[in-house]
Order: sequence, then C-alpha cells, then structure tokens
Amino acid sequence: MYTLRMAKRMLLETNKRLLWKLFWNMGVKGTRSVLAHRKRMKQGQFFPPFLYVSIINSCNLRCQGCWVDVAAKQQTIDLTAMNKLITEAKQAGNTFFGIVGGEPFMHPELFDILAAHPDCYFQIFTNGQFITEEKAKRLVELGNVTPLISVEGNEIISDQRRGRSDVYNKTLAGIENCLKANVMTGVCTSLCKTNIDDLLTEQWVDRLIEMGVLYTWFHVYRPMGPDAMPELCLTPEQQRRAREFVVEMRAKKPIIIIDAYYDGDGQALCPAANGISHHINPWGDIEPCPIVQFSKESIHSSDDDDRSLVDKFTQSEYLSDFRQLAQETTRGCIVLERPELLQQVVEKHSAKDSTARGTALQELKSMLPRTSQYHPGHEIPERNWYYRIAKKFLFNDFGVYNGHDHSKTAAPYIVGATENSSGVALPQAGSSTGCCSEPDVVQLNTGGD
Ligand code: SF4
Repeated sequence: MYTLRMAKRMLLETNKRLLWKLFWNMGVKGTRSVLAHRKRMKQGQFFPPFLYVSIINSCNLRCQGCWVDVAAKQQTIDLTAMNKLITEAKQAGNTFFGIVGGEPFMHPELFDILAAHPDCYFQIFTNGQFITEEKAKRLVELGNVTPLISVEGNEIISDQRRGRSDVYNKTLAGIENCLKANVMTGVCTSLCKTNIDDLLTEQWVDRLIEMGVLYTWFHVYRPMGPDAMPELCLTPEQQRRAREFVVEMRAKKPIIIIDAYYDGDGQALCPAANGISHHINPWGDIEPCPIVQFSKESIHSSDDDDRSLVDKFTQSEYLSDFRQLAQETTRGCIVLERPELLQQVVEKHSAKDSTARGTALQELKSMLPRTSQYHPGHEIPERNWYYRIAKKFLFNDFGVYNGHDHSKTAAPYIVGATENSSGVALPQAGSSTGCCSEPDVVQLNTGGD
C-alpha cells in the first residue's frame, strides 16, 4: 500500500526528466559507485563513493552549535578546483556529491559547478532562503540537483536555533519556490531538545507530503564547535524515539525518509568508519567527516604534494587510522563517544586544525564522552521491505566492524566507568545528563564513593 502511494507520488507529482536524472545519475550510477567502493575495499584500496564538499564557509544565519567559521573571511572552492575534484572523483566511479556550506547558494559559481557536470547528481544542503523563483527554475533546467532544505523548528524555535529573525517563513518561501517549479525537494531537521516535539511528529510528515516534499532527513544534533551547546543534545531515550519514528513512518507514509546511521537490521554504523563518505572543507582540506576538523591532505596540489585525489585518499595514514579507530571502538560516533581517542589519532599524525578559528583541538579536549546513535540491545529493524533490501545491498557496515568487541570501549558500555580498558582515565563528566535514568555522558566516580 505504502509502495503504491509512493510510486503514485513519484509518477504524478514529479517532472519526468528530473525523475529520470535522479534514477540514472543517482540511482543506477550511485549504486555502481557503492559497488565499486566495496570491491576496492576487498582489494585493500580506498576511495569514498560519496564525497561531501563544503564549497563556502559564509552563511547568512548564525545557528546554535554551528562548527563552521561562517563569520570568518569568505573562503570558497572555486569552479576550477571543483571541476578538477569532480573529474578525478568521476574517474573513480563517483557520480554523487553532497554540496555543503556555509550556505552553498552564497557561492557565486554554484550554478556553473552544477552545469559543468550533467552526468553527476548533486544534493545541496541549504537553508533555502536564497532560492528565488528564478533560481528554482534554473535548478529544474539543470535537472541534476536536489536541494535539501533545513527547517529547525516552528517560527519561534527557528529564530532561536538559527540566530536571525523570520527564519521559518523565509525558509518556507524557498521550499515553496522549489515545489512550485517542480524541483525534487527534500526537507531536513537536526533534531534537538527544542524542536523534537514539534517536528518528530506525524503531523509534520503529513504537512511535508501535502506540500509536495519528496523526501526528508532527520539528523541528530551533535555538540561540536566553539559553542557546542550540549544542553541541546537528545537524551538516549529521545534518540531511540527518533529511530522508532523513522522506521514507523517509512512503513506507512508516501515520503522517502533518509538516515545515515543504521543498517536494515537497525544496527548503528558510522558512514566515515565504513568509508562510504568523507568531507572536504572550503579550504580544500580532506577531513574524515564534517565535524572532524583536522586534516593531513588537501585537494589542492602543491609543490610538496601533487598526488592524484585517489592517491591522497588511498595513501592517507591519518584517514586510515581514523577509520580503524572508529571501527574498533564503537558502531556509533567516535567523535561523540570517545573524543580523547580521536585526539590521540590527531596528535599522532600531527593533523592540522582545519578551521579558521584555530581552536579545534582545545574544543576536542574539552568534549566529554557521550552516547550517540549506538544503542546496543535496542536495535530497531526496518519494517519497510524496500528500505531493508536497499540497505542490505547498498547501505550497511560493509563488514568493517567484524571481529571487533565494543563492549569495553563504546560509550553505552562505559557509562559509570572511571577508566577505559587500557587503564586510561576518562575525562570527567560535567553536569549534562539524560532526562531519564540513563546519563548521556560518561559519569565518573572521582572521589571513590
Ligand atoms: S564520526 Fe560521527 S559525525 Fe562523523 S560520520 Fe561518523 S558518526 Fe557521523
């Protein structure tokens, strides 16, 4: 029933040329690139099939807990560098690129980048406020792009979360411009304490469907950056509620719901640990993922390093050690669960702080281990057969956790411990705990009581 309703929406509500582009560039060629990644992994080679590229640091909003240096001097990856990057990635079989910021629509060459690669598919993470009717029409003409527009709460919460006024209405206007022009449009939310009750609801999903939104994505707020605001983090119970909701909605609502953290059996995974994606920042630095702001390699060639993009990824000992640490430690997020171990890898490789503010190491040192998407014993398998099959073949851990015992290292197991399995003292907890009986950060018995 759900499948029929979804198929009906796809056939009746979408522009067929755009649907074909999505099916071919993203569906067929994206599948091939994931299969190529799996094959490479078996051969001991490495290149992530999905690259996320932050093409600009500037943004018109000032979101709570943002880790991007949006107010720093503007830095972009220009058209020439993007063309080189995409061309090299295409040679490795890639066709999908996540375009991130800052706010990508502030990049003066965004449309030139998209137009230069009609054989690829782009997903643009945006606040939607720069998408005028004209720009929406241009997106349709291009056909190889979908905007993923973030809504962070109702009128009041959106302004609070995003540090500007009238954010909700301006973003909604961008969504409407896209939908009016028949752009394949997605809406995402970073779930946190202040928006979960408004947006993790059936009413909100129904509203998106009524509007004509094709897909939605519920991220979970991650406390990173210079003003991390851990008080916004979901409790473990709320995180599991989010997963349960996604699985339930997938089984009954005609809208595609994306998530990046669970396989078909509901087992947690990290998309950087299984190597399906890594990130490139506006300065061209190659990072394991957007919140790990440390780098050893750059996409830009220099006198010291003129290797190909594929060689930089394949040969990077830093990226390899990062993935190994993440795989060995937890099925969840290594950054949130064991920041002190990540710090060791960063220091071992003398990875440079790839932020403009230059305080990423201090921020990492001040983080407390906390739970993430990994909730052993609470796995919630997919109920929708389509997602089960798709994840079985294309989105799972690719075996990277095989043989690793996380019971002495992952956050859910070490809550209450004073030291880890190697005898290394864990950082002291602050006052942030979950709402329920479960703490979401590691609590220590520092006084022997
Ligand atoms: S390290 Fe954490 S934030 Fe980065 S991709 Fe993995 S789970 Fe996501």
